[in-house]
Amino acid sequence: PRAASNGDQDDKVLVSIRVRPSESPSAWDTQMVNTNSIKLLSQHHRNAATTPPVFHFDQILTGSDNKSVYNTVARNHVCAAMDGYNAVVFAYGQTASGKTFTLSGDDDQPGIIPRAMKDIFAFIRRTPAREYLLRCSYLEIYNETIYDLLAPASAPAVQLQGSGANVWLAPLREEVVTSLAAVRAVIARGWAARRTATTDWNDRSSRSHSVFRVVIESRERGDTNGGRQTPGVPSRPPTPGGPRLQSIGGKSVQTSVLSLIDLAGSEKATSDKERTREGKYINTSLLTLGSVIATLAENASKGKSDHVPFRNSKLTRMLQPSLSGDARISVICTLNPDASAVAESTSTLQFAQRIK
Ligand code: ADP
Ligand code: MG
Repeated sequence: PRAASNGDQDDKVLVSIRVRPSESPSAWDTQMVNTNSIKLLSQHHRNAATTPPVFHFDQILTGSDNKSVYNTVARNHVCAAMDGYNAVVFAYGQTASGKTFTLSGDDDQPGIIPRAMKDIFAFIRRTPAREYLLRCSYLEIYNETIYDLLAPASAPAVQLQGSGANVWLAPLREEVVTSLAAVRAVIARGWAARRTATTDWNDRSSRSHSVFRVVIESRERGDTNGGRQTPGVPSRPPTPGGPRLQSIGGKSVQTSVLSLIDLAGSEKATSDKERTREGKYINTSLLTLGSVIATLAENASKGKSDHVPFRNSKLTRMLQPSLSGDARISVICTLNPDASAVAESTSTLQFAQRIK
């Protein structure tokens, strides 16, 4: 079955900007020109009467409506994952610009993660001819160490095994989920683990990347299996170049991975402590992510095969199988429109421009 994704018409990388509502109504530094363009108005440009720079992206989103954000920048990627393609959605931006609001949301405005899972279960219900196995994992990368948020705190750090497009994580807890309630429980466990891992939750959450991943395996429902839950689906690292099909007992098994990633805050180091190890790690991994996505987009659009520097950070190494081949990528860059944030908003727009 094909989910309703645009298939080949999609660009490899969708880059959008989301501007959160302002906390100070008098301050305005960014101005939406239309749904694809944003103007950056800094004090400098107002004083010097120079022309403010205009940036162009796939989408500029404003307001608090997480449903329309999901429909515009994530739904196609979720559909592609149901079709057997790997897909990754990132939220990038300075702390308090709305990354977590966009990905996780709240009770009133559920974010991309809960909406994606709801869509996945709805798709499975509509597709009785196939049987599915969903496995969720929840990880955090902090100071270039990967922590499994679903494992006991005493568990060893997660290691990257294998290499290149055949990289996988071990040991890693993967929870089989069969309902939205089960997904909610898994996410709640992950959040609890993040909170107890540190005395300063905000501090830690702004300096670490959190990765929610769901491995989607499916195969045609066969008579031989009497419609029981997939016992024979293999647990193995996915290979790039999808849809991934593997034959088990004469039935082809399709595997894909959907990764939903709340990145570390992109702000520049402001204290000595941050300028040391932590800050350096965050900088390196976000810079590497930018280079990797920019190169992938360029290779895809120009038919080139330039070297992609996956190996320069844990995040990109870990994601290599999910970003390579015909994987679909969506990057939502979040902006705080307040005057105090103009430097960081500028640098976020530059990051977004670079990967576009
Ligand atoms: P980040 O994860 O980037 O640090 P958050 O998502 O935690 O930022 O957002 C900071 C605060 O702003 C939170 O209280 C959040 O609910 C609120 N917020 C962020 N984006 C929006 C939005 N688009 N609409 C309404 N409130 C938002
Ligand atoms: Mg956050």
